[in-house]
Formats: sequence, C-alpha cells, structure tokens
Amino acid sequence: MGLLDLFKKKEAPRSAPRPAPRPGAGALGPRPDPRAENNFVVVILDSCRFDTFMKAEPKTILKLGKPEKRYSYASWTAPSHYNLLTGLLPHTTPPNVYASDYYKEDFYNYNRRLGAKGIEFGKMVPGLWLPGFLRNTLGYATHARVSLPVLNPRTGVNRDFDSFQLMDKHNDMRAMLPTIPWSADRPSFVLLNVGETHYPYAKPDEDSSMWPRISGVNGVFKKLEGQIDAQGNLIHQSEVQEFFDQDKLEQLRERQVETVRYLDGVFAELYDVVPKNTYLVVTSDHGELFGEAGYFGHGPIMHEKCFEVPYLEGKIR
Ligand SMILES: [Zn+2]
Repeated sequence: MGLLDLFKKKEAPRSAPRPAPRPGAGALGPRPDPRAENNFVVVILDSCRFDTFMKAEPKTILKLGKPEKRYSYASWTAPSHYNLLTGLLPHTTPPNVYASDYYKEDFYNYNRRLGAKGIEFGKMVPGLWLPGFLRNTLGYATHARVSLPVLNPRTGVNRDFDSFQLMDKHNDMRAMLPTIPWSADRPSFVLLNVGETHYPYAKPDEDSSMWPRISGVNGVFKKLEGQIDAQGNLIHQSEVQEFFDQDKLEQLRERQVETVRYLDGVFAELYDVVPKNTYLVVTSDHGELFGEAGYFGHGPIMHEKCFEVPYLEGKIR
C-alpha cells in the first residue's frame, strides 16, 4: 500500500483548521505594511528528476531562464518541503565553501527575488521560517496549495500561512490556480506542491484504473546472485527475486517526462494569472529512481538520482 492510499483510508484534512482569534488580532497576528515589490511563487514539481525535466524540454517553463542541475537537501517530500520553507532552496554543492557562507549568499538572493532591500540570513534568525518572515516582517499574504497528503494542513509545514489547502486530487495543478486569492494591496507568497510528476505520473484527466501499478513502491532491493543476505548466507540463482521489470520502469520514466510536457501548458496559464511583478522559482523536492542500483522511487534511498533536481528562477513580468 502506498502512502497516498494510507491517507485515503484516514482522510487527511483538506484545508487549515482556523484557531480561535486572539482578542484584538487575527488568528495569525498582525502584519506590517508591505516592504517588498514582488509576488513570490515557488512551484515544486514533486519527484521530478533533473534529467526528466531536461528530456521534456518544457518551453514555457524554460522561458524563466537557464535550467540548473541542483541538489535537494532531503530525499522525500516532508523534510524537503520543511527545508525549502526555511528559505534554503536546492543547493549547487559548491566545493571549498563553508556551509554558513553558502547559506548567507542564498539568503542574500532574496533581495532580488522579492524586490526588497536589506534581507540577510541574520533577519531569518531565530525562526528560520520563510513564510513567517515574509508575512510578519515583510507584510506578505501567504498561501500554500499542496498535492501530497504528507503535507496536509495538520503537519508542521503549515505555519504562518494565511491559507493552506490540500487539493482534492493529488495530480491537478490547474485546479490550484483559481483558488489563489492574489492581493491587490500587498505582495503574495505562494507555494504550489504539484503532484502530476509524482508516482504514478498521471495527468488529471487520466482514468485512475489505467494507472500503472508497481508493488512495494519505495526502496526495495533487488537481490542479486552472489550477494550475501541479511543472515549472512550467499544468495543463489534460485532465490533471486526480480522485483522490478526494467521495461516497466522505462515506461514509468517516460510517463514522468510526459507529465512535465503536460504541465508546461498549465504554466502558460499560471503566467497569465499572476499579477505584475511576480518572481517564480521552479524546482523539485527530490528526484526519483527508475531501477538504478535496484531502486525505485525515493525516500529511504542513498543514490544521487534521488537528490538531483531541476532549478530555474526568474521574473515572469
Ligand atoms: Zn516529494
């Protein structure tokens, strides 16, 4: 049973429960007048591998700028989104650089992204929480629309968001667009966790009975003849278990490429609905394995393809 099925059994909440407002304040507390120019939109193509993205050649997304191969700080959805929301976007793995210097530089980039002045790592301390910093210090409206139930509104990543919604379908970015309440009098921060690129790599109009099924979707080892098993015994040919059919894995990889091509059309719609002065980051929360070293999926996997992600940023208009 996959994680999606588990959450279906015990229905995950779809929108954020509102705590009772404190006297004299909104549920989230007051916020200052805006201190930045740009709306800031972060789109996470869940599980999208760097090479998947490049093979898809999504023309509209590529208008943003040159795609970079970057690396996620984590190998699955929940810790990776937590990390992204500290403000640390996927890294470039620079050699001979102290981590603290890299973080400082990455935070300095928010001056460009937000159209603001004086942003530095020190301003994020001690909360280290981008939505809180944007909302409570720079006066942003903050909204999240997520596809994967491990990010539902009861989880820890829902902090300092004015609205936070788990979408009805795990694979429909287009349905998110009309739910975003762009504000006329202050900039908005919008996080979109997009699920089309997540297993089973399905477009929203695809009949779910046609989705490919693969058992044991995460981190299953393929036993090879001559290896030693957990009890220290040599594995013989008769015991070799073919967990994965490589042809099927290639089909799955191609399905992920197709979802990126499909999403390129939804990005054209996103570009049309965002207000003027919108800065966009497109990246992924982690990669995906399609049979390399006996792995499929992501999560409890130590393999570089689990960390390689596409990264693009730029101003839409
Ligand atoms: Zn993910």
